[in-house]
Amino acid sequence: MRDTYLDDYLSFLRFPSVSTDDQFKGKVNDCAQWLVKKLEGIGLETKLVPTAGHPVVWARNKHQPGRRSVMIYGHYDVQPPDPLELWESPPFEPVLKDGYVFARGATDNKGQILSHILGVQEAMEQNGDLPVNLHFVIEGEEEIGSGNLPKFLSDNREALKCDVAVVSDTGMVARGVPTLSYGLRGVTALEIKITGAKMDLHSGVFGGAVANPITALARLLATLHDENGHVAIEGFYDKVKPLEDWERKAWRELPIDGDKAILDETRAPGLFGESAYSTFERIWGRPTAEINGIGGGYQGMGTKTVIASHAMAKLTFRLVPNQEGDEILALAERHLKKHLPPGVTMEITRGHSGPWYLTDPHSDVGQAAQRALREAFGKDPAMIREGGSIPIVSQFRDILGVETLLMGLALPDCRAHSPNENFPLENLEGGIRLNKAVLAELAKK
Ligand SMILES: [Zn+2]
Repeated sequence: MRDTYLDDYLSFLRFPSVSTDDQFKGKVNDCAQWLVKKLEGIGLETKLVPTAGHPVVWARNKHQPGRRSVMIYGHYDVQPPDPLELWESPPFEPVLKDGYVFARGATDNKGQILSHILGVQEAMEQNGDLPVNLHFVIEGEEEIGSGNLPKFLSDNREALKCDVAVVSDTGMVARGVPTLSYGLRGVTALEIKITGAKMDLHSGVFGGAVANPITALARLLATLHDENGHVAIEGFYDKVKPLEDWERKAWRELPIDGDKAILDETRAPGLFGESAYSTFERIWGRPTAEINGIGGGYQGMGTKTVIASHAMAKLTFRLVPNQEGDEILALAERHLKKHLPPGVTMEITRGHSGPWYLTDPHSDVGQAAQRALREAFGKDPAMIREGGSIPIVSQFRDILGVETLLMGLALPDCRAHSPNENFPLENLEGGIRLNKAVLAELAKK
């Protein structure tokens, strides 16, 4: 790999482009400016587009009629580096160690998007042009929910007209195994507040006479699942699209032991979930109901003989095709009301929602992606879905009318969002090869 590639990478990583914290606003902007210069330097027409938040960097080559148009999306913002004391080297002073670069953003998403930029640079140098009409859209608000991206997409819908989107912001199932992610789970959320008496009560004076909201909440939450981890909300699975035989087979044959990998990574004492499904099937292809937070009563040192006035819990549901967020929330509310123990009242507040995503990896562009992954990494690609959610890919479909090829370069132990985030230079190089291969393959119609 050329020295200048590493220089570019380290320069990009030195910007503390933390989007969520206003004190970094200037640095986020400096990072965007650096990208503009880099993209202009390789011969792309580049604009910095202001939004109500952080700007979008938008670059394109000279478009020619008759060619396929491809949008490569990435983000230049990063998560906060906290807790700082757990970093072995400062998060914004990248360090190269044993072939890995350690810095906030190394994987998510600077290393991955830069590999595409460097791939384009190489192709432009070698051929004077790219085989496709290209847009780079690199935003600065992915880590805070991409709130201003839909407006950017709709404002520029005509100019951004393309045939497919390419995103490297997901994972490889294992080191050296190229991976095409063709599905994501959606998510929806609600909050429960249970109220008993109007104030906290003395448990000796009132205990036995009134309901305890924490007990009521515990009983209520326990009705969400049966003893095998199956969600017990009536109608919850009605719209779930069954897994296809080919995908169950593909996931069984992945070159990794998913159960072991998860036990090793999480150090959980055992796995748990719906018994008729493998671990990957449960994460990638089945919906869940999770209790994310629970609270109420005295939490300080020692004891306090009290019956709390309130108890609360936060719930989220991971959704799969063809479940719909509002419908699931309505079913959940009906279930919770039906099972609410006597003597308390309940308030339910609906939270945010993001849709699931599923695209056909055997489509024309899906096959082009598979060929490119094989070419860049010398191995058949793993075809997987992911358990997480990336709402922007649904916006690419809804606003631009295109499917997204998720060709992630993150390794399972990359520590994205955590201290000591890292990315191997081998994947930066792999990403450069992948970029050139995928643009070449997508150029073939
Ligand atoms: Zn991230």
